[in-house]
Parts: sequence; C-alpha cells; structure tokens
Amino acid sequence: MIIVFFGPPGSGKGTIASIVKKELGIPHISTGDLLREEVKNKTDLGIKAKSYMDRGELVPDDLVLEVLKRRIEKPDCKNGFILDGYPRNVEQAKTLDRTFKIDYIFNFVLSEDEIIRRLSNRRICPKCGAIYNLISMPPKTPGICDQCGTALIQREDDKPEAIRERLKIYKEQTEPVLEYYGDRVINISTENGFTASKRASKQILKIIRGEI
Ligand SMILES: [Zn+2]
Repeated sequence: MIIVFFGPPGSGKGTIASIVKKELGIPHISTGDLLREEVKNKTDLGIKAKSYMDRGELVPDDLVLEVLKRRIEKPDCKNGFILDGYPRNVEQAKTLDRTFKIDYIFNFVLSEDEIIRRLSNRRICPKCGAIYNLISMPPKTPGICDQCGTALIQREDDKPEAIRERLKIYKEQTEPVLEYYGDRVINISTENGFTASKRASKQILKIIRGEI
C-alpha cells in the first residue's frame, strides 16, 4: 500500500501520518527527515546531499530518489509506506509513477487564516525540540518547556509574514504536481478545530478500508 500525503505546513499532516501509520502498520517516510539523517550519518549520499544544501541549493531529484529507494528497501516497508514531502515537482511525480504504483494520494486542505492561526501559536523548546501550541497544547507553566524547563521560543519561520511566504512557495511547488495527478487526488479537509487531524485520519482509514 503506497500512500502519498500533500499538505501545507500547519495542515496537521504529521499528526495524521502518525495515526494512519500505526493503524496500517506501515512507516511514514518524510524525504526531508531522510536527507537530514543521511547527512547526519555521513553516508555517501548524505555527503553528496550536504554539498548542495551547504550552497543553499535544492538536492537534485535523482539523489533524493536514491535516498528514498534505499529507505524503501528496508524490511518495514514490505507492506508499503506513507510518503511525505515527495514528489515536490512534476518530474519527481513522473519518476515516482514509473517506479511504484501509488494507491492513494491525499491532499489536506484548509484556509490560510487557519494555518496562520495554528502556526503563529506554535512554540518550540530550543534545547530538547519539544513542540507546543499556545491554544491546543500549551505548556503547564506559560513559556517554559514541560520536559526540560527551558524558555520556549517562536521560530522565525512561524511568524505570520514568514508563514505567508512559506505558503506561497508551497503553493507554487505543489499546485502543478496536484494538477498532474488530477482526479487521483483525494482532498481531505483539516480546517476545523483541534480534532480535525483525528477526523481526517478516520476518514482516510475508511476510504482505504472501502467503508466510504
Ligand atoms: Zn525542552
């Protein structure tokens, strides 16, 4: 079972992936995380990828695909996987179609206002990396990490202006890919409330199990 997730930052994609992967018993593969891991482990592919990242360039498609293929050969992928962050462009989408048979493509949809509301309330711990949300998941003591007691910060990336810019880039990248997939894309709303991710996960599982 090969599933592809699309969703802007703040769409709840990570939460949904963590629920769906558990239910289906298949791993969630984020190509961004994979690349960072290869770099960290200084593998041959990681060293190559880093040379692009250090120059502020995008890691080339064939290198990303190679990293992905290597990950997919691991035994936990034998029943399938959820792909996140790939394909990023139509070329990658075509390559993916030539390489695998994709079963489901889900696209998480919500308004820009809601995304900004969610992300601008996000706070992270600079020490241990714990993530909080002032509305849906506040720390026990305001401004302080529950895990390690460090003062929480807002990432530059999570300020409204930066969010708008990230969304603009996301749209520019993703729209052509969604267009390429056409009616193979299943849109799932994650607009309303804190339970949106849970609801979306249930909906996805029902679709996969043929219940709706
Ligand atoms: Zn912490």
